[in-house]
Amino acid sequence: MTRTLITSALPYINGIKHLGNLVGSQLPADLYARYLRGRGNEVLFLCATDEHGTPAELAAAKAGKPVAEYCAEMHEVQADIARRFGLSFDHFGRSSSPQNHKLTQHFAGKLAEAGLIREVSEKQVFSNADGRFLPDRYIEGTCPNCGYDKARGDQCENCTKQLDPTDLIEPRSAISGSTDLEVRETKHLFLRQSALRDDLDKWIDTKTDWPILTVSIAKKWLHDGDGLQDRGITRDLDWGIAVKKGEEDWPGMEGKVFYVWFDAPIEYIACAEEWAEATGNDWERWWRTDKGADDVRYVQFMGKDNVPFHTLGFPATLLGSGEPWKMVDHLKSFNYLNYDGGQFSTSQGRGVFMDQALEILPSDYWRWWLLSHAPESSDSEFTWENFQSSVNKDLADVLGNFVSRITKFCRSKFGETVPEGGEQGAPEAELIANLTTRITAYQGFMDAMEVRKSAQELRAIWVLGNEYLQAAAPWSTFKEDPKKAAMQVRLGLNLIRLYAVLSAPFIPDAAARMLSAMNTLDTGWPDDVASALSALPVGHEFSVPDVLFAKISDEDREDWQSRFSGTRS
Ligand SMILES: [Zn+2]
Repeated sequence: MTRTLITSALPYINGIKHLGNLVGSQLPADLYARYLRGRGNEVLFLCATDEHGTPAELAAAKAGKPVAEYCAEMHEVQADIARRFGLSFDHFGRSSSPQNHKLTQHFAGKLAEAGLIREVSEKQVFSNADGRFLPDRYIEGTCPNCGYDKARGDQCENCTKQLDPTDLIEPRSAISGSTDLEVRETKHLFLRQSALRDDLDKWIDTKTDWPILTVSIAKKWLHDGDGLQDRGITRDLDWGIAVKKGEEDWPGMEGKVFYVWFDAPIEYIACAEEWAEATGNDWERWWRTDKGADDVRYVQFMGKDNVPFHTLGFPATLLGSGEPWKMVDHLKSFNYLNYDGGQFSTSQGRGVFMDQALEILPSDYWRWWLLSHAPESSDSEFTWENFQSSVNKDLADVLGNFVSRITKFCRSKFGETVPEGGEQGAPEAELIANLTTRITAYQGFMDAMEVRKSAQELRAIWVLGNEYLQAAAPWSTFKEDPKKAAMQVRLGLNLIRLYAVLSAPFIPDAAARMLSAMNTLDTGWPDDVASALSALPVGHEFSVPDVLFAKISDEDREDWQSRFSGTRS
C-alpha cells in the first residue's frame, strides 16, 4: 500500500478566503486526498492556518482584540468553513501551536550549528507616523523594474521581481500612507540560502516529473541576476515565535520573532505532530526518512505565488538542517482564478467568499465548478453565466437526471427493489467496454493531478450512462419485454453506485446521498467494471432520492450577479 503525505498551502488567518484561494490549493488537495483514499491508499492530509506576521496584528487591532484571541477565533471560523466545504483534512492545525514554536526554534538552532545563519546589522524602515518598524510588505512605492506604482517592499506583484524596500521609488507606509519614513539600524538573522544554492539546484534537477511552471519559477529565482539571495528570518514584532537557538536564548535577538515565511512551512511538520498528539498516531513515520518516511510520497498543493517558498525557502531549511527530513516529491501549483472581468481580492472584498458561497448553494455545486475550471495551464475566470451553465448541464441534466430517471422508473414499474430477470447483451457489453476505457483514463488523470481533465473524463462517464439509458429506453422495452427492461434498470441502479464512488472526490455530499439512496455502504473502487455493476444484487432495496442538483434559474443568476458586483462590506 502506498502512503501519501499531502499538504495544502496554509490559508492566512486574517479573514475568510475567497473562491480563488480555495481552488488554488485546499480544494484540489482535497480532491487528490479523497481519490487516493477511495482507491485504498493510506493518506495523511494536512493543512493549518498561517497565523503570524503583521497582517494578523493589524487585523486584530482593527477588530479591537488581542492578536492571540483574534487568531484563535479566526482559526475556528476557517475550520468550520473548511468542514462545510467538505475539505477532508486529517488535521487542520495552527502555525502558532506550541509544536511549531518548538520545531521552528529547533530548525533555527540546527541551521546556526551548520553555519547557515548570519547576523546582519540592517537598516530598516521606521515609520514615525506609525511609531514602528515597517515590514517590507507594508512599504509601497514604484517598482524600479517595471514602473508599477503599487509595488510592495518585498515583491512587485506586477512583474514578480523580489525587492528590498530601499529599491522602491517614492516609498510610503502602506498602513498610514505616510511618507515620513526613516531608516534605522536593527539586527537580524539571515538564512544563507546562497550557500545552499548548488544543493538546491541539484535537488531540483532530480525532479524530472515536476510541472514546467514549477521548475521554471524555481530556476529563475536560483539563477536570475546574482542568483538566490540570503533572506532575513527575523522581524521586530511582538506576535510570533520568539527567536531562540533550539532551546537556548539567542544573544542580541531578545524581543524579536521569526519571520512568518520561515515558520509557516515548518508548520507542515508541526501539524503532523499536532495530529499525532490528538490521535495517538506516529508523525515521524511520515516526516523522518530515518524513521520510516522513506516510502512516503509527499505532494504539496499551492498557488503559483507560493512556488518559490516551497521549492527554495522551505527546502533550504530542511536541507540546511542536515537532518533526515522528508522532502517534497511533487508540487502541484495553480495559476489564478479571476472574477467576472477582474481579480478576486481579499483586501478589496471583490468576488465570492467561502461563507457567502455556502449561503447561496451547497458546497458540491461550487466544488464541481471550481475543480472543472481549475486554473491549471493558465488563469481561468469565474462568470455567473458559466457557473449557471456548468451546474445546470453537468450536474442537473447529466448526473442528476440520470439518477432521477432510473430510480423513478424502477419505482413505478418494479417497486423500490433491484428487479430480477433478463440477460445482458451487446449494448451492455459495449457500455462496460466504454466505461472501462474512460475509467482508466479518469484514473490516469487523477493520478497525474490533472484536475480539469479528470473532471471532463468524469462527466463523460456520466454521459455514457445517459446515452445508454436513452438508447435502451426501458420505458419502451417494458411494454414488450419486461425482463429485458428489468436488466436495463438493474444495470442503471448499479451505475448510480458506481457513479457515487467515482464522483465522491469531486462532489462528496451528492455521492453520499446517492449511496444512501442505493442503501449501500459499498464504496469499493470499480477495478473491474462488470463486477462493480453487479454490486447491488436482485432484491436489494433502495429509495428514490430527492432532487440531487437543483437548476440555477436566470432570476437567481441575475440576483447573485448584482449582489456580488460591488465589494464586500
Ligand atoms: Zn515590477
